[in-house]
Amino acid sequence: MTRIGFIGLGIMGSPMASHLAKAGHEVVGYTLNTDAYARLEGDGGRAVDSIEAAVKDAEIVITMLPNHPQVEDVVLGEGGVFAHAPKGALLIDFSTIRPESSIAVAEAGAKAGFRVLDAPVSGGQGGAEEGVLSIMVGGDADDFAAVTPVFEAVGKTYIHVGAHGAGQIVKAANQLVVGGTYALVAEAIVLMEALGVDAGKGLDVLAGGLAGSTILERKRKSMVAREFAPGFRIDLHHKDMGIITDAAKQADVSLPTAALTASLIAAGRAQGYGSLDHSALLKVIENLNGRGEK
Ligand code: NAD
Repeated sequence: MTRIGFIGLGIMGSPMASHLAKAGHEVVGYTLNTDAYARLEGDGGRAVDSIEAAVKDAEIVITMLPNHPQVEDVVLGEGGVFAHAPKGALLIDFSTIRPESSIAVAEAGAKAGFRVLDAPVSGGQGGAEEGVLSIMVGGDADDFAAVTPVFEAVGKTYIHVGAHGAGQIVKAANQLVVGGTYALVAEAIVLMEALGVDAGKGLDVLAGGLAGSTILERKRKSMVAREFAPGFRIDLHHKDMGIITDAAKQADVSLPTAALTASLIAAGRAQGYGSLDHSALLKVIENLNGRGEK
């Protein structure tokens, strides 16, 4: 079993760290939201009060942080992972960040004697709690092979998709499909309700046909009930749409549906829904149609 330093015990990191501890790994956690420590300790892990204490004996370091400034700060900063982890340790960054930051972290790691994988995940809070995440991994194939027990403990599908940064590009594609699907499900609900049809029953049928998806499986009931506790915050999806539109610009490709979806998610933030789940795109579509809360 492996000694793991785990940094960032939020909505996703907290259940992931618990799965690793329950699988028998020695998990030492550090996070800013210290309320997460009770769960880690209850599941057999240990909480500490600094990055240094979390990583000083680690064979594997895991980060699950909001965005690239936090990852760069935690990993490259003065009191950070590369300053304190034992040389040769392997960093798995599960955060969703821009590909160029993943590449920069991997290059800095190589110079400092560390192996690095970018390994963003999909599956949401439910997937993290159930340990069935999909994980898209960029970096060296041998490094990927060396840490499959970690992926096994938190995920169901994990695939090495290419060099450093490739995991983030696949994750951008994932977020494009997820954001666009939420927008369409929201429009489907508004359409059915506007014509007096029970949207709950309607989505039950859709879920069993070609339109079926994990989003319909996991979220149709909460959307129809207008329950929008996160989950995955609109603020984070807005960050991801920025990664997608930047990547499209860099690749010189036109992605019109991505642009529209990015704009709808930006509208969600502008309307004050940034801290709600991304399924709150339904509120944006309702507001567009004058059907929102008065
Ligand atoms: P979150 O805000 O719930 O968790 C982030 C955690 O990082 C918090 O616990 C915070 O305390 C910690 N943190 C921030 N800065 C820190 C620092 N300097 N030192 C130590 N800890 C620090 O976010 P989340 O929803 O768990 O998302 C984490 C990442 O996973 C994001 O990149 C997100 O895009 C991605 N993601 C989220 C979901 C989801 O459904 N929530 C799904 C897939 C991917």
